[in-house]
Amino acid sequence: MVLWALGIGPGDEVIIPANTFIATVWGATLCGAKPVFVDCEIDSYNIDPKKIGEKITKRTKAIIAFHLYGQSADMDQLNKIAKEHNLFLVEDCAQAHLAEYKQKRVGGLSRAASFSFYPGKNLGAYGEGGAVTTSDQELALKFKMMRDHGSDKKYYHEVYGHNYRMEGIQGAVLGVKLRYLDRWTQGRRNNASLYNELLKDVRDVIKPKEMPYAKHVYHLYVIRTARRDELQKYLDAKGISTGLHYPVPLHLQKVFSNLNYKEGDFPITEKLAKEILSLPMYPELTKDQIHYVCDSIKDFFNEKSKA
Ligand SMILES: *Cc1c(COP(=O)(O)O)cnc(C)c1O
Repeated sequence: MVLWALGIGPGDEVIIPANTFIATVWGATLCGAKPVFVDCEIDSYNIDPKKIGEKITKRTKAIIAFHLYGQSADMDQLNKIAKEHNLFLVEDCAQAHLAEYKQKRVGGLSRAASFSFYPGKNLGAYGEGGAVTTSDQELALKFKMMRDHGSDKKYYHEVYGHNYRMEGIQGAVLGVKLRYLDRWTQGRRNNASLYNELLKDVRDVIKPKEMPYAKHVYHLYVIRTARRDELQKYLDAKGISTGLHYPVPLHLQKVFSNLNYKEGDFPITEKLAKEILSLPMYPELTKDQIHYVCDSIKDFFNEKSKA
C-alpha cells in the first residue's frame, strides 16, 4: 500500500536488499514494478549503500530499507542516496518494532514504513495484522482511505483502494500487548547479551554485530559458522530448535527466475545463506535455557576438534 500510494507502477524499478524475506518484494511486484536486488554488508547484513548507485537507472523510483533481524539499516546513507537521485525511501519494519537508528525509532526515518503483526513478530497479533506509519499528513489521509475502499466518507470514493482494514479482535489484542513491548524488547536485548557473553570465546562462531548507530531489538539472534548444517543437526538432537533466515537468497528463488539473476551475483548474501543459524530468541527464554544452548554449541566444537 505504501508503494501504491506513492504512485509506483509498471515500468518502475524498486531497489530491494537481496537479503530479506520475500514479503519485502511483494509490495513492488503487486504494483507491477520490477524489483532490483542489491547485496548486503558483511557486518550488519543489511543492504550495502555503496552498492546501490550502480543499480540506479532512469526507471528507479524507490528504495526499500529493511531492518534485518531487528537492526536498523544505515538510514543516513540511504536517505542521502534517495535525496541525490530523487527517489522515495520507505522502510520495511516487519522485524524491527522499537529498533533505533541514532536514538530515533525506525518507522519514522523515511517517507513511510510498514510493520507486520504476524504472531511471530516482536509485536504479534493473534492472527494476521500490520500497520503503516508516516509523518506526512497528506499521505496518512491517503492511507486511511486506501485501506477502506478509497473512501473517507462512506460510498464517496476519492482514490483507488482495497480492503486492508484490521479485524477488531486483532486490534484489541495488539492494544494490550503494546504496553508490554518495551519490557519484552529489553528481555530480547538481555538474552542477546547473555548469548554474546557465553559465546565470546567460541572462535568458530561469528556473533551478531550491533552497529554503532543501532539499537538492535533481536527479532532473531543469528550466528554464523562454516559448519552450520552439522551444528544445526547436533542442536536438534539436543532438543534445541534453530532456524535459517533465509536458506535461499531471493535472487535465486524460482519465482524470480525471469529476472535473470544467477549464482555469484550477490556473494555476501549467498555466503550468509550457507553460514547463518538463528538460535532460540524470545523474551521469556530463561538464563538456564541460554546456558544450555551455548554449552551445547561449545560441546559441538570441542567434540569436533578432538575428532
Ligand atoms: C514478516 C515480514 C513481512 C510481513 O509479513 P506479513 O506476513 O505480511 O505480515 C514483511 N517483511 C519482512 C522482512 C518480514 O519478515
